[in-house]
Amino acid sequence: MKLYNTLSRKVEQFETHEDKKVKMYTCGPTVYHFAHIGNLRSYIMEDVLEKYLAYEGYDVERVMNITDVGHLSSDADTGEDKMLKGAKREHKSVMEIASFYTDAFLADCKKLNIKIPETLVPATGCIPEFIKMTEALIEKGYAYTAGGNVYFDTSKLENYYVFASHNAEDLEVGVREGVEADSNKKNKTDFVLWFTKSKFEDQELKWDSPWGYGYPGWHIECSAISIKYLGEYLDLHCGGIDNAFPHHTNEIAQSEAYLGHKWCTHWFHVLHLNTTSGKMSKSKGEFLTVSLLEEKGYEPIVYRFFCLLSHYRKSLVFSWEALDNAAAAYSKLISKIAALNGGEVGEGKVDAEVLSEYRRRFADAVGCDLNTSNGITEVYNILKAKTNDETKIAVLKDFDRVLSLELFESAEKLKIKKKEEEKESSSAEKDDFTVEIEKMIARRAEAKKARDYALADEIRRELGEMGVEITDTPDGTKYKRVR
Ligand code: AMP
Ligand code: ZN
Repeated sequence: MKLYNTLSRKVEQFETHEDKKVKMYTCGPTVYHFAHIGNLRSYIMEDVLEKYLAYEGYDVERVMNITDVGHLSSDADTGEDKMLKGAKREHKSVMEIASFYTDAFLADCKKLNIKIPETLVPATGCIPEFIKMTEALIEKGYAYTAGGNVYFDTSKLENYYVFASHNAEDLEVGVREGVEADSNKKNKTDFVLWFTKSKFEDQELKWDSPWGYGYPGWHIECSAISIKYLGEYLDLHCGGIDNAFPHHTNEIAQSEAYLGHKWCTHWFHVLHLNTTSGKMSKSKGEFLTVSLLEEKGYEPIVYRFFCLLSHYRKSLVFSWEALDNAAAAYSKLISKIAALNGGEVGEGKVDAEVLSEYRRRFADAVGCDLNTSNGITEVYNILKAKTNDETKIAVLKDFDRVLSLELFESAEKLKIKKKEEEKESSSAEKDDFTVEIEKMIARRAEAKKARDYALADEIRRELGEMGVEITDTPDGTKYKRVR
């Protein structure tokens, strides 16, 4: 696969340390609120990347953290802890907030067909590892204590600003000497590894450490968790572009200082989902969630389709109109798939040559810097191709291992819905029939009342022809269908 590497700023051949094995780390959510659909854009694209690598035959070992401590409201160690902010907002404990929003995140992932990494690690579960790494960094001379906190000394590195130029705006935020600038820092880019003192003394979760009772900085968690579960050499690290600086830059600084060698080879960053008024963000308080899309009548999978239609390295502007277009295109695609007449794929019937040609075309598309929209073009191409439906089904099932657009599940649902609609309309016809019979019986009663027995008999005969037998009882005329 060829993939853009933020580190080299080039599309490169994707290489791994061990043959056909990928060690992949993903920055997980900060669970103080629902994930917004911008966060989920990143997770959708990372999911397609993982599935594509597996499609190419790699064994992917993937780890994701859950940030439940240490992420302050500014990525540069200032402001209040986001988890505490969430807890205060909802009058709950930090752990209650973390558990609630972790479950909500996992439920959103399920709805969007995002595979949850096998190893999902809450930061609060790895405190000893953070302490161990911080101790080693002090020992090696890369970290210092000041004012009760432990800081990483960025001046000790030859090249600190790894991703800075990719994210000029965030760099500004990261190093700005604002009102909250921390006077303990020797260099303005230094960052906290362990806090025992902060302006927010009501921090709920604290642990014993060699530097006093306190809590970890945010950046240390990803390095320590990654090294613990994936070892010293990482092949692929993912996140949204806002993570590139300072978060990933700091991860590289402390991991390489700790390990004494290069840590991660390939960095994958997803550009943002923006609203017409700018970046969608949790801290702004106004954001769209998967549940909101559902409330408005959209199937979550349509949002996945919407994301796959554009390239991960371009920012994507969300609008309801654009989502409507994706919804219409998706349902048109599904009706085409539902109309395929392959039944169960019988091996003999699939044209193996066409299947392998389309696999190659799909790999050329998606394997070229994860071009999912070109991958979707191949979905349309196979539908138009001159081959039998069994082959088309086999090709589409193969593509959907990567795209996870539920092509066949949705087509099945559509078929069931159509059948139900047909049933409903035929039962509506039956109702019309009943209404007709009742009208005829009423006309016959009128005729009898007017002593027009000839007409009454004629109606009975007509009903008989319609398969309806009538009996006059003291309670009125009863009828039954005899055929
Ligand atoms: P957070 O929960 O804030 O730690 O973010 C979770 C993930 O979403 C990270 O990989 C972020 O880089 C990413 N992210 C944040 N905002 C956006 C956005 N508007 N569009 C795409 N990804 C985002
Ligand atoms: Zn991270």
